[in-house]
Amino acid sequence: MLTGKVAVVTGASRGIGKAIACKLASQGAKVVVNYNGSKEKAEAVKAEIEAQGGTAVLYQCDVSDFASCETFIQDVIKEHGSLDILVNNAGITRDGLLMKMSEEDFDKVLDTNLKGTFNTIRFATRQMIKQRSGRIINMSSVVGVSGNAGQANYAASKAGVIGLTKAVAREVASRGVTVNAIAPGFIQTDMTDVLSDKVKEAMVGQIPLGRFGQTEDIAAAVAFLASDSAGYITGQVLHVDGGMVM
Ligand code: NAP
Repeated sequence: MLTGKVAVVTGASRGIGKAIACKLASQGAKVVVNYNGSKEKAEAVKAEIEAQGGTAVLYQCDVSDFASCETFIQDVIKEHGSLDILVNNAGITRDGLLMKMSEEDFDKVLDTNLKGTFNTIRFATRQMIKQRSGRIINMSSVVGVSGNAGQANYAASKAGVIGLTKAVAREVASRGVTVNAIAPGFIQTDMTDVLSDKVKEAMVGQIPLGRFGQTEDIAAAVAFLASDSAGYITGQVLHVDGGMVM
């Protein structure tokens, strides 16, 4: 159980982040539901958590903005007194073949997925080191490990998240803070709904377990890494992908 722990989940207005927020709240954590543009959806997540007896607060912040992340993390610590779990889940795609990829599409994906992860960690670690405890869980992707045609920007950002995870894990391990990454495979959300049926069929063919993942599959892995049971695990990449990459 995570009773009394303060958990920040970035990009928790929809998809995987929503499932993570609900799961951590169901285990007793006070969850800060971060969103960027989807205010109404974030409010619905808060309402869902509260209807199930959990505690949630909302916080709008564009994670790609360094200064906003400083304010965000400091506000959370000021208001709740601690920061125990940080889940860097916010992410975007801007797919396209490299030869046609604009500089803007490359920068936007790197700024949100990789720099956004750095931004929150940069300010959260100070508090976690002071507490001598903390859990940081970063959302990577199988694509960051194996690459994917049409996703040079996204693959680079998710590979970067793995490097960042391992470097920070080494820096903060002696202070009782663990840092791990999760590499989801194909999970059914808004992000993957936009793919054509042809692409989806081809993807299923590459998954040994023969089905797409659900957001709850990722939330369960996050809850484990955030729990006391995972206290001796750091610097790892946990694949939750139906066996897609092994
Ligand atoms: P999604 O349904 O598209 O949701 C993305 C979430 O990220 C939304 O809550 C969105 O908030 C938030 N977000 C985007 N830009 C943001 C920003 N600048 N600041 C703060 N929040 C921001 O995506 P998903 O499928 O749940 O994916 C969640 C994470 O898992 C991502 O990091 C993704 O790369 C990773 N992942 C997904 C899959 C998959 O198959 N779905 C596979 C591997 C990895 P707003 O709507 O409020 O803007």
